[in-house]
Amino acid sequence: MNILLLGGGGREHALALKISQSVHCSQLFIAPGNAGTAQHGHNVNIAVDDFDQLKTFCINNAIEMVVPGPEDPLVKGIYDFFEQDPAISHIPVLGPSKVGAQLEGSKAFAKLFMQRHNIPTAAYREFSEANYEEGVAYLQQHALPVVIKADGLAAGKGVVIPTTREEALAEFAQMIKDAKFGDASKKVVIEEFLTGIEMSVFVITDGQHYKILPAAKDYKRIGEGDTGLNTGGMGAISPVPFADKVFMDKVENQVIRPTVAGLAAEGIVYKGFIFFGLIKVNEAPFVIEYNCRMGDPETEVVIPRLQNDLVELLQATAAGKLDTQTVVEDPRAAATVMLVAGGYPEAYEKGKAITGIPAPTKDQIVFHAGTKQSGEQVLTNGGRVLAITSLATDLSIALAHSKQTAETLSFEGKYYRRDIGYEFL
Ligand code: ATP
Repeated sequence: MNILLLGGGGREHALALKISQSVHCSQLFIAPGNAGTAQHGHNVNIAVDDFDQLKTFCINNAIEMVVPGPEDPLVKGIYDFFEQDPAISHIPVLGPSKVGAQLEGSKAFAKLFMQRHNIPTAAYREFSEANYEEGVAYLQQHALPVVIKADGLAAGKGVVIPTTREEALAEFAQMIKDAKFGDASKKVVIEEFLTGIEMSVFVITDGQHYKILPAAKDYKRIGEGDTGLNTGGMGAISPVPFADKVFMDKVENQVIRPTVAGLAAEGIVYKGFIFFGLIKVNEAPFVIEYNCRMGDPETEVVIPRLQNDLVELLQATAAGKLDTQTVVEDPRAAATVMLVAGGYPEAYEKGKAITGIPAPTKDQIVFHAGTKQSGEQVLTNGGRVLAITSLATDLSIALAHSKQTAETLSFEGKYYRRDIGYEFL
């Protein structure tokens, strides 16, 4: 079948490689893609949220499946757009309906959903202009630190964790009164600060059944020892050493099953990936956030450990027959080290020539994130540039292997964290 993948980061390179390896894939197109995805299919210059152009492309190229990588098209309703148009309604879109995508698109929606289905999450209250003064009073007596979250999508910047009362009140005022994040902060969730260790669990669901994919842990801060500014992600590991069977059984029983059952009970159409951002508090899992797509850089460790034919899994998802599938995990550990542009996540330059990208082997692959092809050269084209994933019998060997390649690969301003996975070594 002909498949259209949406997105252009490291996640999409990993998905493109995996989809292209499927016996069911005849032609793969990636919109807009990057220099890495172009090795596994045809890049198409259409934005992920330009639904009209995507529709025309799908018709003209006999596309039989659309796989959205990022949240943007999902939250904007690409599932419903395809489903409601008779010219393209036969093409499955692997993701939630617009309502389902609200699990990521609105933190207030996600919190209410968790409350209705008794899914463990931090205690919270929701505020807007209408009950602003109540919010101020709530913050004045809340324990510190406190977590303040803009309701909508804010490019990963909408969560602040003030440690002083003054800072908390100022942030709250900026979000609601000064529209710090525009419409995204018209509503605000104030929640209890949980202390524990975070990890990510990935599931694919057809709306009735679900399959658990390899779990991962990512590293968000720019600096070693988890210091400095937040980024899109500086590295990841899979499996997660502390996520043993006892803990994962709790995650399945207390979080995954009630989420999928809750969606079904509420008639919310959802045929795609669910990403559970979890925190382990003592021995118990709590949901920090839902995302309605795979993570980046987590996909770069999860997908290489998935031994299934991905297109077969996606077809079963679209058909509502995931119960016929068994997920098979590579027993090896995977470690991704992200190479970023100097200055990232603040101002950085693009267009630097990259040299020394090694050819993929059975235990290492360099995924392209922010890159573009220019004649014979590959140039940097974003903050996060390349994701080096290695697989080995042991996490420490995989990490060492990724770091070795991080050292030899070169572009002006290259930076990476040398301590990915440090807690487990
Ligand atoms: P992302 O960058 O993953 O898109 P986001 O902007 O959607 O994140 P969250 O994931 O909800 O926001 O929160 C960002 C980070 O803030 C979390 O990864 C976690 O480290 C921290 N955080 C959020 N909620 C809490 C909480 N209740 N207690 C402690 N830390 C929290």
